[in-house]
Parts: sequence; structure tokens; C-alpha cells
Amino acid sequence: MTLQGIFLDPRVKEAPICAKILDRQRWVPVRLVSSPPLPKGDPFDFGKRRLFMTLGEGRALRPCPGTKRYICCGYQILHLGSGCPFDCTYCILQVYLSNPYLTVFTNAPEIIKQAQREITAQRNRFFRIGTGEFMDSLGLEPITELAPLLVETFSDLDNACLELKTKSVFIDHLLQLPHRKRTFLSWSLNSPEISESEEKGTPSLEERLQAAVRAAEAGYPLGFHFDPLIYYPGWQKGYQKTLVLLKDYLAGATVAWISLGALRFMPSLKAVARKRHPETRIFLGEFILGLDGKMRYLRPIRVEMYRRLYAELKEIFPETTIYLCMESELVWREALGMNPRQAGGLAQMLDNAARRVIYD
Ligand code: SF4
Repeated sequence: MTLQGIFLDPRVKEAPICAKILDRQRWVPVRLVSSPPLPKGDPFDFGKRRLFMTLGEGRALRPCPGTKRYICCGYQILHLGSGCPFDCTYCILQVYLSNPYLTVFTNAPEIIKQAQREITAQRNRFFRIGTGEFMDSLGLEPITELAPLLVETFSDLDNACLELKTKSVFIDHLLQLPHRKRTFLSWSLNSPEISESEEKGTPSLEERLQAAVRAAEAGYPLGFHFDPLIYYPGWQKGYQKTLVLLKDYLAGATVAWISLGALRFMPSLKAVARKRHPETRIFLGEFILGLDGKMRYLRPIRVEMYRRLYAELKEIFPETTIYLCMESELVWREALGMNPRQAGGLAQMLDNAARRVIYD
């Protein structure tokens, strides 16, 4: 990843992580500024090549803002920055973030420590934690190299697991770490066509699967996320190709969970995404407004896609927990023939899946 500029918040210029990053990026122009200006033109395009180092404020751990209207996975978010160097056409960050820059919280080590204190203070509770609400968990890793600290911190915790959800393949510096299966490395997958046309700047599907193989060989538990599933002519064949690759590369690996989530987006995303990516066709289908205020495919389409992928994935990974992201009980029943409430709820199902892997 080539940066074209760095904005440095004067409050953090003495932070050790700044010195490390600035040393690695010593050819990149740096500007001291507490609030970087909003660029003209396409702020996201501009922001994806510029880093902002600042202070993270607020609580270390926050519940993922799911909605009561759909079944939510009960994740906790560890917020260490925002933005992503990749440029997926469907990326929700295009409308979520008011700050378009690749943003790193230089007090990340303190935030991680604070999370560690919260977790150890509540030994009777199990925490499933992710970092990827406003970023790809490893998207900025070539610049920050924060993941080793996360992996090592979580390796000491007995009532928590961390999921690093990514499209990146920058994981080789994690392979030798003593992770104790507390960190789950998970990759977003799609059909090869969608990956190529809609996930700009990301490693190819096969590169991601090869990274997953390296992670599995290093003993890391894995996860996969088919999200967003895109409905397009020939989707069956497209996703079939991915399933064949997944089987070839990873049948027999420890895969804790696989999620399925059909494309959904804030209504405002369509105009922004089509302006930034005029060639994309993924917003041309028929959508309805869901109870969470997001546009989604009609229910029969979602059910058809979930049903098909679920059946095939169960054949490849019979022990893996396969779940739907932000769907109703009705869709769960129609597509998967089950209601997560019978298993204690989705959050419980995923906690159990994590514990099975960790304590195996
Ligand atoms: S990898 Fe994730 S965060 Fe990054 S652009 Fe794609 S969807 Fe957005």
C-alpha cells in the first residue's frame, strides 16, 4: 500500500506507535493537523491513500449495533481506527464515515489493555470480539502491525476470543505467535466474478484461501463470511466455483463458523457507490426496504441463495456453525430449517462454537 500523505494530530506526535509508523513511511509527507480538511472531489478516493494518526476516545469495548428487528450475533467491537485501503463497490463505509482517511488510533495499545481489564473483570462472561466495524481488521496491518499485540493479549485470556475479519493476506507475521487458538482469522469470500469486479484492490479469492491454509497450518481457527451474497445471472455457478475452491483448499481445517448475508445497504449508498463506481451493476436488481432501514433482496431470493449455499457448505464442513447475518426467524426457518432460539440464540450458538474450538 502506497501512502501519499500523513496527517498527524499534534496530541499524539510523541506516541511510540507514531515513531514506528513514521519511520517506516519516511518518504511520505507529514502534516501536523488536529482535524484534516475534507478534500474536494471524491473524498474516499483521496482518503484511501492518506493516513490520519489520532487519539481514540470512548469505551474500549462496545456492543455491535445490530437491530432488535433481526437476529444479531452479539459481537463486541474493539475500536482501533477506521477506513480501509481496499475499495469494494458495496462498502458501507462510503456513507457511514464522515472522516474518509485511513485512521489509526495511536493509543491502540492502551485501548487493548483497557479491553483486557474489562474482560478479566468479568470472568463469568464469554466475550466474542471483533475489530472490523469501521475497517477491515487487517487492511492497515502493513502500516500499523498491531495484530501481534492483539493476538498475544488474547492468548492470555480464557473467557474471550478475537476474530480478525479480512480480505487481506498480510498474515505471515502472525504465524509463529503463541495464539492459543484465541484469535480466529476469518476471510470474506465471494464468487470469483464478484470478487474481481466489485472488490477493487483486494487479494484474489485464491490468494485469500491460500492465506487461510497458512493460518490453519499455524493452528489458527478459521471463519468465513459470504457477505454480501450478490444475486446476478449465473450466481449459482459463480458461488459453486468458490465452494469447490474452499473444499479443495480447506476441507478438514478447523472452521468455527461461516456466515451468509445477502447484499443490504443504506438507501443513500446507491447514489454514492454508483457515482464512485459507475460500472457496477449490483444495485440494479429489485430491492425492498427492510425493518432496519436498509435495502435488501426480496425474501424468496434471499432464501433461495441461503438454502443452496447452506446445503453445500454443510457437506464440506459438517461440524461448522453456519449462520445468517441480520435475518428474521422466518428466513432462518425457510432457508436453514431451524430457529436459532432453539439453540439458545445466535450469540449463544457462536459462543459455543468458539468455546468448542478453543477448549478442544
Ligand atoms: S474490505 Fe471491507 S471495509 Fe474494506 S472496502 Fe471492502 S467492504 Fe469496505
